[in-house]
Amino acid sequence: MTARLLDGRRVAIEIRRETAEGVATLQAKTGVTPRLAIVLVGDDPASRVYTRGKAKASNEVGMAGELIPLPADTPESELIALIARLNADRSVHGILVQLPLPPQIRPEVVQRALDPAKDVDGFHPVNAGLLLTGGAGSDSGFLPCTPAGILELLRRHQVPMAGRHAVVVGRSNIVGKPVSLLLLRENATVTICHSRTPDLESVTSRADILVCAIGRKAFLRGRHIQPRAVVVDVGMNRCEDLEEARDLFAGDPARLREVREKGSTLVGDVHPAEAMERAEWFTPVPGGVGPMTVALVLSNTLRAARNQTQAGSAGPAR
Ligand code: NDP
Repeated sequence: MTARLLDGRRVAIEIRRETAEGVATLQAKTGVTPRLAIVLVGDDPASRVYTRGKAKASNEVGMAGELIPLPADTPESELIALIARLNADRSVHGILVQLPLPPQIRPEVVQRALDPAKDVDGFHPVNAGLLLTGGAGSDSGFLPCTPAGILELLRRHQVPMAGRHAVVVGRSNIVGKPVSLLLLRENATVTICHSRTPDLESVTSRADILVCAIGRKAFLRGRHIQPRAVVVDVGMNRCEDLEEARDLFAGDPARLREVREKGSTLVGDVHPAEAMERAEWFTPVPGGVGPMTVALVLSNTLRAARNQTQAGSAGPAR
């Protein structure tokens, strides 16, 4: 069997098109252009790529996307002061602070400083709490972009979730926990695994829907996957070894060329060749969850702008 691909690139293009239409409608009705402020502290190469990508994507759908770079040694108090200014600025509708942050800055302090109404990453405790307490179909608060993107990817491929056993490997606040809650909201029966779960294989191999977000290259193998399962691979790791790439991608010449010419290729937390043989649906890496994350940043920003325009103020009221 060869798995069918959960095509994040295609769905992300659909969402971007819908968002661009929403932006144009909002502009026509109110004259307001949604504005997204993206704060990058330091010069982590991966973060630079992600933040530039988000700024470019927001401009492409007609928003004003603005990258605010700060030096790596920025004190926490300075970042908090910047967030306070962005919170108060009525022309700014969404604020993202790229993670990871340098060691002198506590991410939880930064997340709490954001106005929840502008927290388009959905990390503020108010938004996290609304996700926790919201019932089925609840539409309040901002959902974190990667988990919301995963759900949208499943929905738009008509993958049934109700009544199915979903296993989520990883319990981070940005992926594992929220995606578990969203699957629960869709009436899946959810099991969460983590680094202390004994005999992981005995749990994951009973999953109808398996989501893996652990940050370990090709960690889940074919034996971890129930035949015909839906497998969502959130991981983003680099494979730099040609022999390893040959094994992971079943000798795919395009991947081998990438390693030879660029020095590496992206691979998720699931062994791709083995997953393709065993699963019914599988997310490619790249081209699965990654593009959905960016698309959801855009749709959240549009929603923030609509909320704030309707409310007539940029205050935290919702
Ligand atoms: P974290 O490092 O915050 O969390 C990793 C989780 O995996 C932890 O809960 C940890 O368990 C668990 N874990 C680690 N090793 C094992 C193991 N051997 N068996 C079972 N569980 C294990 O990672 P994130 O959630 O931030 O990210 C996960 C991956 O997703 C990364 O590769 C990241 O790059 C990627 N990512 C991709 C995004 C995208 O847009 N495509 C967006 C965000 C992340 P414990 O809690 O016990 O330590």
